Amino acid sequence: MAVFACARCGAALTAAVSQIALPVHAHQTYGHELLPALMEPGTYAVDPEPSGPPWRLWSEIGVQEAEARGVFAPVGALPFGAPGAIVLAPGDTCGTVLIPERCDGYCMGLDGRDGPNLACANCGQAVATRIDDCSYWQAVRLAPDAVRRLPTADPARRTVTWEALAEERQGTPPVEPPGVWSPWWEAAVGSALAHLLVASAGAPVAVPDGLAANTFGRVLDALLPQGLPAKRVALAGPGLPAPDPALDIALVPQHPQTGRAWQPSGTAVAVPLAADVWMHLAFHNERSLVPVTGGTPEGVLRDDPLPMHPWRLFRPDSGVFLHTLARVPAVRQPWLRGIYDQVRAQPYARPF
Ligand SMILES: [Zn+2]
Repeated sequence: MAVFACARCGAALTAAVSQIALPVHAHQTYGHELLPALMEPGTYAVDPEPSGPPWRLWSEIGVQEAEARGVFAPVGALPFGAPGAIVLAPGDTCGTVLIPERCDGYCMGLDGRDGPNLACANCGQAVATRIDDCSYWQAVRLAPDAVRRLPTADPARRTVTWEALAEERQGTPPVEPPGVWSPWWEAAVGSALAHLLVASAGAPVAVPDGLAANTFGRVLDALLPQGLPAKRVALAGPGLPAPDPALDIALVPQHPQTGRAWQPSGTAVAVPLAADVWMHLAFHNERSLVPVTGGTPEGVLRDDPLPMHPWRLFRPDSGVFLHTLARVPAVRQPWLRGIYDQVRAQPYARPF
């Protein structure tokens, strides 16, 4: 565990927190309402990319400079602030005050467009950016050069083993009340989809029936050519039988704490998927239970609660998809760049 403190005066700016992987929806914008905190209480993550102003337009950056910072396809603009921001839930921060002249955003909250909007309450140094405007997962991003990380005496949180994660089988349900697809699923599938396309090498891809087909299959069918032979995709990971040695692409879980992908045996190309979504796909039984004989018991009118069904077809998050794909060197291949350009031009056209 660690506490982050002001680099100038040493005042504590956070509770004791332990590091986990940056969540897959860290760069997602969703809907037009206030969203919950990005990070779980007691955790922090490091965003490896530069963030915050100055922002520069793509036309000012140039291909070489963009590639040097890991972006391989055109984007609207890129932030050129310091890399390595420390991301936490707002409730895990303390000892800061707002900088009123930097509190822009103002639909429902702050969006951090002016750079750090929180100062150390003790010495006045700008130390962090609070983001809580509509469409953004609420977060405080500590400026990496304005804070120091101080280890605490608390024992480090143990890294949960793959076996324990698989045994818990705690996945995130794909549909939320009152019947909308989970934004986590839209982000996780959007990110994995970018890597799935790379693994396909432009060939048709066959996805298992059921939820995987409803989430990945429809969009892969729309973006890739149809026909045979198709590359076969299947889930592989802890708690599942070893994958078929002839499998082409293995959809594997990405550890929520370390961010590392589970490694399959064999020659299949591993495509990482956020572990909570993977766990649901791997272990949730979609069959509804019905009495074998005799119908519904007396006094029971029907299922309660009713199983949730989504209002519309699943659409991966096109913003997360494009963000991920732009950072994969393979996007420079013409066929994949064609898909990137097509989705970027119409990010909400079907199948997104
Ligand atoms: Zn200070």
